[in-house]
Amino acid sequence: MCLSKKFVAVQRVNKMPEKIDWDKMAVERMHSAPQPPKGMIRLSGPLEHDNIVNGDGLRAVVWTQGCPNHCKECQNPETWDYQGGFLVSTKEICERLSQFKGQAGLTFCGGEPFVQPEACKEIADWVRKNLSWNVWSFSGFTYEQIKKAGGPQWEFLKSLDAMIDGPFIIGLKDLSLRYRGSKNQRLLHLEYGTGKILKIE
Ligand code: SF4
Repeated sequence: MCLSKKFVAVQRVNKMPEKIDWDKMAVERMHSAPQPPKGMIRLSGPLEHDNIVNGDGLRAVVWTQGCPNHCKECQNPETWDYQGGFLVSTKEICERLSQFKGQAGLTFCGGEPFVQPEACKEIADWVRKNLSWNVWSFSGFTYEQIKKAGGPQWEFLKSLDAMIDGPFIIGLKDLSLRYRGSKNQRLLHLEYGTGKILKIE
């Protein structure tokens, strides 16, 4: 091998892998998720009420279907499949939620609510206006990734009062945290209408 060829070969062997842009990949996962037909939402289970573990006070819970994050040791892997669960109209969800009495608010759990942002926002806006409930959501994406995604994802976030953000990371598991499973996750209190972070827990 001549010197120049040898040099090129050494360069190839030592070439550092390109830096992975995790945020860009997360935004792509949000943007490429298949959407339910307009006016519909895909759920993974029935609506809940009087729930006390997914936010402050008694809460109704909407369990969405479909998650691209695939966290190791996720407790709900059956909610990952975009074609799983069942489709239901957002109007029917609102009607059913209005029958739950004495609730402080609504929480979106998953699955990943931010891959169905338009349907979730429609429900969030309706319960705020008609039931005067506050609205929370869980997400395996971070606040920053959702802001970067913009569009319907950011519009849904702006309709929330609080969110728990970030993926579940088994190595950071901590069951003593309020509403969270791992230390990287944050409870963000948000300013409704702007998405501004008011407080971080
Ligand atoms: S974001 Fe939630 S539902 Fe999705 S894989 Fe992670 S823990 Fe499971």
